[in-house]
Amino acid sequence: MEKHWIGGKYVRAELGDQFTTVSPAHDTTVNSYALGTAKDIHRAVQSAREAFDSGPWPHMSGKERADILINIAHQILANCDELAELETLESGKPITQAHDEIKTAVDVWHYAATLARQLSGETYNHLGPQKLGFVLREPAGVVGLITPWNFPLLIISQKLPFALAAGCTSVIKPSELTPGTTLKLASYAHEAGVPSGVINVVTGFGDPVGACLSEQPDIDVISFTGSTEVGRKVAATAGKNLKRCSLELGGKNPHIIFADADQDAALDPVVFGVYFNMGECCNSGSRVLLEESIAEEFTQRIIDYSRKIPVGDPLSAEVKVGAIINNAHLDKINHYIQSGTACGARLRLGGSQLPTLNGRFFEPTVFDQVTGDMPIARQEVFGPVLSILTFKTKEEAIQIANDTMYGLSAGLWTSNVDTAFEVSRNIRAGTIWINCFMDGHPELPFGGYKDSGLGRELGRFSTDEFTELKTVQLHIGKHSHTWL
Ligand code: NAD
Repeated sequence: MEKHWIGGKYVRAELGDQFTTVSPAHDTTVNSYALGTAKDIHRAVQSAREAFDSGPWPHMSGKERADILINIAHQILANCDELAELETLESGKPITQAHDEIKTAVDVWHYAATLARQLSGETYNHLGPQKLGFVLREPAGVVGLITPWNFPLLIISQKLPFALAAGCTSVIKPSELTPGTTLKLASYAHEAGVPSGVINVVTGFGDPVGACLSEQPDIDVISFTGSTEVGRKVAATAGKNLKRCSLELGGKNPHIIFADADQDAALDPVVFGVYFNMGECCNSGSRVLLEESIAEEFTQRIIDYSRKIPVGDPLSAEVKVGAIINNAHLDKINHYIQSGTACGARLRLGGSQLPTLNGRFFEPTVFDQVTGDMPIARQEVFGPVLSILTFKTKEEAIQIANDTMYGLSAGLWTSNVDTAFEVSRNIRAGTIWINCFMDGHPELPFGGYKDSGLGRELGRFSTDEFTELKTVQLHIGKHSHTWL
């Protein structure tokens, strides 16, 4: 039985109630957690506030904070096997992928440590002979971090180390479906030297725990990753309280293949792009746009390749597609399959749950003859379901690519450098991959245009979210002018 992590130790929930997580692949209980309430959030926020207002963390040197972040990275790596297994059991993702994600998270913590030593402002030495201006960068205060279930440790690692690098303290609300690795992270961070109260974790449901966190007056910044629907609520609450808010939300990302592309090279990334993490991925390349002249042949290649994907027990090292997170989400995927067929798209592969014990495994699915007005072309299915559309010209490809409310990422394959740049410049999305897909580096910012979000994570701008600027002006020497 796990408890909340508040003030540097595990503490019982105010009401003492519990909830459990269940392995999507095995239907077994994974763990039981403290069921958070508004009172638990108050306690955690108070702890983070005290750690910010009177604790050492915001005043430590960048080097001291960087050294601790590096220690945390080492702790995560040292516990990689345990974390990966827990992540697989709670989320249903393949174990080999969970290992890779944890190593990626380690790299992000190392990168954030470099930023802790580079925080800087500006000086203005040309304001006049007696004037000097400084722009100081200060930690923003207490941050509330709300995360989803699809990449639990990786997503908290895209927020927390940057908030810590900046000198902030935090209250974290992980998804109720996958809180395990975030709680472990908090205890590793404590062992690595993070003072008590700097990191607090309250487990429980979106309402009341997440909702209460986003409306707390003592929180200075809210950083949320999750669905666009919940993101709107969080932003509305943050707006009401004039709280800074950054949002990483959904996507319906186009993956465009021009006829002049290296199709052999594109095939594996196209298939990976849609089925990676069971399609439960904000960056999923779930809309493939094929130039008409290659559409039939390349569709067939996608189908043949998709048939080879090993789907099954995510604890098996061979498996590439694990279990769907829960029954409610399975219902949503099934709803989209019915909608696709009813709208006149052609089901070319899959479309059903696999006949396993709990049925929570879904076949890799391909629809072609999809048009831009269909829900499967516009909305986030968040499952292993590919929609194939076709285009005749570059201009049409850009128009289809932009024809959704989302703008998270896009991929394109071409051997023509003019096409590559023209299309990249005209797609309204936060990340464009040219002749690759879903590559990521901590140096490069990540975030969405349009309804895919507000703000950016990763990269050197990531600490901006967690800092305030303060202007200090200095007069040098004797004052020569008076007002009266
Ligand atoms: P979700 O929006 O249902 O939940 C996200 C988090 O918000 C959870 O911790 C949940 O408990 C909490 N929450 C729920 N209601 C709340 C409320 N009223 N106030 C505050 N918090 C609340 O999303 P999910 O189903 O966990 O995750 C899937 C979604 O996340 C997809 O839409 C996906 O595209 C998106 N996502 C985006 C990114 C990105 O970086 N852009 C990354 C991963 C996932």
